[in-house]
Amino acid sequence: MEAYLDNAATTRCTEGVRDAVVHTMMTDFGNPSSKHMKGVEAERYLREARETISRTLKVNEKEIYFTSGATESNNWALIGAAMANRRAGMHLITTAIEHAAVLMPMQYLTEQGFRVTYLPVDEKGQISLQDLEEAICEDTILVSMMCVNNEVGAIEPIAEAVKLVKNRNPKILFHTDAVQAYGKMQLYPKKLGIDMLSVSAHKIHGPKGIGFLYVNDKVKIHPLILGGGQQKGMRSGTDNVPGVAGLAQAVKEAYAVLDESHAHMLSLKQQLMDGLKQLGVNHKIVFHSEEGEASAPHIVSVSFPGIRSEVLLHALEDRGVYVSAGSACSSNKKIPVSTVLKELHLPADQLESTLRFSFSRFTTAEEIDYALNVLGELLPVLSRYIRH
Ligand code: PLP
Repeated sequence: MEAYLDNAATTRCTEGVRDAVVHTMMTDFGNPSSKHMKGVEAERYLREARETISRTLKVNEKEIYFTSGATESNNWALIGAAMANRRAGMHLITTAIEHAAVLMPMQYLTEQGFRVTYLPVDEKGQISLQDLEEAICEDTILVSMMCVNNEVGAIEPIAEAVKLVKNRNPKILFHTDAVQAYGKMQLYPKKLGIDMLSVSAHKIHGPKGIGFLYVNDKVKIHPLILGGGQQKGMRSGTDNVPGVAGLAQAVKEAYAVLDESHAHMLSLKQQLMDGLKQLGVNHKIVFHSEEGEASAPHIVSVSFPGIRSEVLLHALEDRGVYVSAGSACSSNKKIPVSTVLKELHLPADQLESTLRFSFSRFTTAEEIDYALNVLGELLPVLSRYIRH
């Protein structure tokens, strides 16, 4: 048996997504920029995808721009908005636990003369609104704060943060990296006051290499990719119609079962945590809010003090259980914060021994049981090698 519990890294495409991609590669394969029928036909996929996505966010279709994924969306939102608004100020605010796709553009902007404040987080992975309030200066032009942290599943207080920022100065732009939230929970940027929002398709059973950026039509932002003038000149490059068709299909499917999926993943999370408790081994859930409000339903971060995460990861892999090491993606990177876990002030033994288990709506209770059984066999063996 296999248990794929690394859905925060990527998800498997659905059959509906595959069919949409294949159809637009093999049959409706035109270039939307072409003036003939094949082009018009292809253009329809872009229009329909914008309609589908804009309905889920309750925004205008014209405010959706397709990108190559959330890394591009984040780079564009931050660099594009900073450059377009630099006359208004040179100060930016973000959190210390953002994905590298936010931290690296922020580092780039620092090299271009901007100042960046990185908000710390508490042991639950959440920023403090007071810190945010204190960080805002006369010349702050942009705040970027993720909805859900990809390593530990912490949910940031976005609604309160936007309110606070806009009350202080309505001109400050608010961007959110919604990669781990979109398709899992309702998000309404206009209602909340969010100006830009980044999404990636492959986290919601869509294809890799496609995503979008929502940009409120009142926001001034420079294009980063220049060329043939596609997407109103804001993001050039031949439109990735198969990717867009796959993304739209993934969105339709995710939103058709949003509430059920949320409840299902929450029950898997509970099952995993209860099972770990029953195993009686030395482990710690990095954090969890009983109400489920402060943490996402699909991510559980667990440390197994004394057992190095890579060792357990590969031992699990040998038995067909796929998870990820919480700190894996931040190693050897010269970014202001090396790991999210460090920012949570975990003790050293937990830092080195944390694994992330992440689910999708297709993860089954049997997979969780299987993973627990395998852990039940491995942990007593690996614990023997712990140095005391
Ligand atoms: N932001 C977050 C929170 C993520 O989890 C990821 C994916 O790992 C990204 C951004 C990057 O997305 P993409 O793979 O579409 O570039």
